[in-house]
Amino acid sequence: MPRFKKISLKVGRSVWNLKLLFAGDNDPRIEESRKLVEKKSYEFINAWKDRTDYLEDPAILRQALDQYEFWKRQYYTDGNEGYYFWLRIHQDQNDPRLKARFNKIDEFSKKLENESQFFYLRIARIKPELQKRFIEYEDLAKYRHFLGRIFAESRYHLSEPEEKILNLKSATSSSNWTRMTAGFLSKEERAVFTEEGKRKVMPFSEIVGLMNSKKKRVRDSAAKAFNDVLAKNAEVAEAEINSVFANKKIDDELRGSPRPDTLRHVADDIESEVVDALVESVSRRFTIPVRYYALKARLLKVRKLAYHERNVEYGKMARRYPYPKSVDLVHRVLGKLDREFADIFAGFVHNGQIDAYPKKGKDSGAFCIHHLMVQPTYILLNHTGKLHDVLTIAHELGHGINNELIKKKQHALDFGTPTSTAEVASTFMEDFVLDEVLHAADDELRLAIMMQKLNDDVSSIFRQVACYCFEQELHKDFRAKGYLSKEEIGKLFQKHMAAYMGSAVEQSEGSENWWVYWNHIRYFFYVYSYASGLLISKSLQNSVKRDPAFIVQVKEFLSAGLSDSPKNIFSRLGIDISDKRFWDKGLDEVENLLDETERLAKQLGKIKK
Ligand SMILES: [Zn+2]
Repeated sequence: MPRFKKISLKVGRSVWNLKLLFAGDNDPRIEESRKLVEKKSYEFINAWKDRTDYLEDPAILRQALDQYEFWKRQYYTDGNEGYYFWLRIHQDQNDPRLKARFNKIDEFSKKLENESQFFYLRIARIKPELQKRFIEYEDLAKYRHFLGRIFAESRYHLSEPEEKILNLKSATSSSNWTRMTAGFLSKEERAVFTEEGKRKVMPFSEIVGLMNSKKKRVRDSAAKAFNDVLAKNAEVAEAEINSVFANKKIDDELRGSPRPDTLRHVADDIESEVVDALVESVSRRFTIPVRYYALKARLLKVRKLAYHERNVEYGKMARRYPYPKSVDLVHRVLGKLDREFADIFAGFVHNGQIDAYPKKGKDSGAFCIHHLMVQPTYILLNHTGKLHDVLTIAHELGHGINNELIKKKQHALDFGTPTSTAEVASTFMEDFVLDEVLHAADDELRLAIMMQKLNDDVSSIFRQVACYCFEQELHKDFRAKGYLSKEEIGKLFQKHMAAYMGSAVEQSEGSENWWVYWNHIRYFFYVYSYASGLLISKSLQNSVKRDPAFIVQVKEFLSAGLSDSPKNIFSRLGIDISDKRFWDKGLDEVENLLDETERLAKQLGKIKK
């Protein structure tokens, strides 16, 4: 194993170095950049907008795609300016001048986007007989999957005027309804007990957070208020969701979608058989979350957890992790996995691609962002020294490493990750860093961390799959009956929640309405991707733990970007992700952690043997 020098933060920086893009907000090169983007965009647009030969002759399509790729790689519709000001407004949200500058370039960019859209749309309209010829054409191999993705979606497209009507009416038949329900909820207020023990009128968004309070009185009072708000709005949500489902049914019938979840899978570049294997494997192992909640109830010394109490933290995680120390820790873990991972991270630190500390006006979250392929990746953190912050570094870095690996191997049209695997790299790095943290922690802290980790895994994997099954049954019932009352929806909801929670969690009174608040079900079948990303990551972790040389395959996968569907990428690595055993390996990782946690709890005398 090679040794790694510590990264010195004196050499590196902890604020973004945006000079990699421009010298400052008034850099004269900003103006020049915009002119160049305009020139290059119209070179592309004007070259192809009046031509149709590229839609018939694969050799000409190759030329067109080469130009398209080059334009997207180097300039696209906003060049460095859009990226620069996007980053600036996340650094300082209170400066209206920055917002104005961003809006200007955004407007400029949208115009060019609209003008260039014809290119993509016309390719989608290539006739099926010709599509086949294009896909098989040797000299188009480089763009085969890019074209394949467009053609796969276009199979469910209607004629241009029909698409236009559906698009124009989509707000009134779906999103306005959904926004209405969310809007009603957000306006609600109730008097609840605060952490300070006072009774205070709080907005709905803050009541949600208080349900996880370690103080029983606070979380119970928040849950009561929360349930009251949902009960009040359930009637309207019933009307809303029936309309949204009816609209979805009409769309599916018009488009000829065989299943309610087909269009989600097509959009995410994942085969239905893969999602089916995932959902079946996870559902078969609901014993894992059932055991987890039973353990939690015992640790918290209650017979049953109320529905809203399932996320309450166990134990204390008081240990602090200052940023420089966290950087070294993450760097060390990456180095043990792969030299290149560590080098990419060191590069980010040295070049000032990470903005580490909270600051007034700065975005309060964490993200890893990329835009054009030729531009540097940037990571935003708000490091305050909690364990969670260390894991966030690892998580965002995982995204960053993923980007850099894709850049090395792919062209600009395959630069990105499909939804189904977007969180593989991030959770992969996060889990290995967590392992390292656990090594260094004393037993009490370890137990607390492991319980929290299991809680996160249960929420991302089992809860999301339970929700997926709930959605499937909802659509099926709706289509069979024509209308579902809020009581019927509530019953289905509780059935699917109880299936993964088991008897240690009460399906408490009021919880039958929690679907009112679950936004994801309004966007249809998105939730599987939380489980697929994390389980692929865990399955890969399992393989790397058995054989460290497997990291080569992991990197191969992380470099693949959008060049093929996840199923095909894995199949080239000798892995079949439509096989349930693949998913079981990932689930084994969660079960191992649960076994270990139970053992530790017994060993510490926290629960009876
Ligand atoms: Zn992420």
